[in-house]
Amino acid sequence: MEIGRRPAMKSSNDEPMTMKVKFVDDEPVKASDALPLPLYLTNAVFFTLFFSVVYFLLTSWREKIRTNTPLHIVSLGEIVAILAFVASFIYLLGFFGIDFVRSLILQPSNDIWAADDDAEEIILKEDARKVPCGEALDCSIPKMAHIASPIVAQKKVFDEKPATEVLPPTAEDEEIIKAVVSGAFPSYSLESRLGDCKRAASIRREALQRVTGKSLEGLPLEGFDYESILGQCCEMPVGYITIPVGIAGPIMLDGREFSVPMATTEGCLVASTNRGCKAINLSGGATSVLLKDGMTRAPVVRFNSAKRAAELKFFMEDPANYETISIVFNKSSRFGRLQTVKCAVAGKNLYMRFCCSTGDAMGMNMVSKGVQNVLDFLQNDFPDMDVIGISGNYCSDKKPAAVNWIEGRGKSVVCEAVIKGDIVTKVLKTNVAALVELNMLKNLTGSAMAGALGGFNAHASNIVSAVYLATGQDPAQNIESSHCITMMEAINDGKDLHVSVTMPSIEVGTVGGGTQLASQSACLNLLGVKGANREAPGANARQLASVVAGSVLAGELSLMSAIAAGQLVKSHMKYNRSNKDVTSVTSA
Ligand code: ADP
Repeated sequence: MEIGRRPAMKSSNDEPMTMKVKFVDDEPVKASDALPLPLYLTNAVFFTLFFSVVYFLLTSWREKIRTNTPLHIVSLGEIVAILAFVASFIYLLGFFGIDFVRSLILQPSNDIWAADDDAEEIILKEDARKVPCGEALDCSIPKMAHIASPIVAQKKVFDEKPATEVLPPTAEDEEIIKAVVSGAFPSYSLESRLGDCKRAASIRREALQRVTGKSLEGLPLEGFDYESILGQCCEMPVGYITIPVGIAGPIMLDGREFSVPMATTEGCLVASTNRGCKAINLSGGATSVLLKDGMTRAPVVRFNSAKRAAELKFFMEDPANYETISIVFNKSSRFGRLQTVKCAVAGKNLYMRFCCSTGDAMGMNMVSKGVQNVLDFLQNDFPDMDVIGISGNYCSDKKPAAVNWIEGRGKSVVCEAVIKGDIVTKVLKTNVAALVELNMLKNLTGSAMAGALGGFNAHASNIVSAVYLATGQDPAQNIESSHCITMMEAINDGKDLHVSVTMPSIEVGTVGGGTQLASQSACLNLLGVKGANREAPGANARQLASVVAGSVLAGELSLMSAIAAGQLVKSHMKYNRSNKDVTSVTSA
């Protein structure tokens, strides 16, 4: 990478993923590279030479056979022809033959691990791309002539050729665009007034470009079902973001194999997690245990005195009242079942942390409905109770909070594996003692020194975020879902490594929210956890939580090994590098 230039696609600024990586674009220098002529000319010369001398030699040998002249008696012309034959043969073999032979030898193997079994480095052929990542997107994105141009009639993103067709908006749409631009027609009401979500998004997009004077070229509009997000996932859409999805694994978890979809733009992440999966699989797989499963919501209510607040706390925590409260709570859902209520007083204010099972849903809506039922009910016995907010942050949703780290939220999962010493050496390129020491000084002591809250790990959030994006989870819940303590211990007389991740707050669902969108749903399907589990409601979401923990285990193993082996910076310099000069990227 040149000094002063920065990669176009930068990795996230947290712990970078790493792995020793060899790029195929470091192609071997060919003899032809040294020739002063253009390649097509040297090719033509050697082709012509080759066939000419073959023709010449065959003709002269046929003549010799006809006249009974011994073949080994050669004329000067034949000697020159033989030399030319050898030279052109070597050239053509070097140019075409070696690649052909290599392509035969390097046929894709059925063994998913074969790619890096022999070499110490993972060879990422994809990196031999001819265009920078950003430009690669253009192949499916139609061009807009000008931001003030008519609405682009884009073809499906799946089209083979880029669609550049630009159609003017209909007269009717043009009128609506103008009305939106002038403010006469509220942008947010396009869907309800037009009754056509795709058309609404298209009109909004064009109006937005005209109002801002900024192009949205590159943000796809076509190829998305806008009806599917209406009233559920996103308001006022103007397109959708594309994020590549890579596959790590399969990982052997609790005796089953899972291919883990990861949506990310961080180079190394999938490859590294994949390496961790390999180490786990070769050691016999990982095991997970679900410790707890309950989503929480904690309203804040206020009284005129701390005494009254305390009275409600005692009421809520009295086992005699639990049944009544749970009946009231549970009435709004078939799946939400109250488990506990934990109360905390702050002066005259009371925080009640309701925890309930939520089936296959992540459960925020479900728990909130149940809480509202209870608050309405409590108003009878505590009419002086002032409900300040259905969420009082003691829940605690999408914020770092000790309550989640200690009590858990969503699914609490522990996942472990014993990695054999020779696998640590061969696959992870380090040793057990180095890993154990690094874990102690980095993930435990280092995080303690930093005052970490649930951050006793190397990069759990990297894996959590990528799996969440791929499977339609709420990415903001990555905050508490990434709480994780990674433990490493030498066992079997120091020969093998016991590694575990304990994650108390994995908040996932397989129904509701973004899980029902086509692409996210496909990723859930790949994991075998799509939608509601009819036989055992909640089993799909719990399985997904285990997969998240297993993937984190793989990610932790690989990154920690890379750091222990001192590969981190080196591989990132390679893997996150880009040819693209970002200084040339300007806003339109
Ligand atoms: P969340 O509570 O995670 O925000 P939603 O309320 O959007 O989720 O989605 C849950 C909805 O899915 C509820 O209406 C619920 O009745 C329904 N549902 C159907 N099957 C299940 C299941 N197996 N587990 C949980 N919810 C389910």
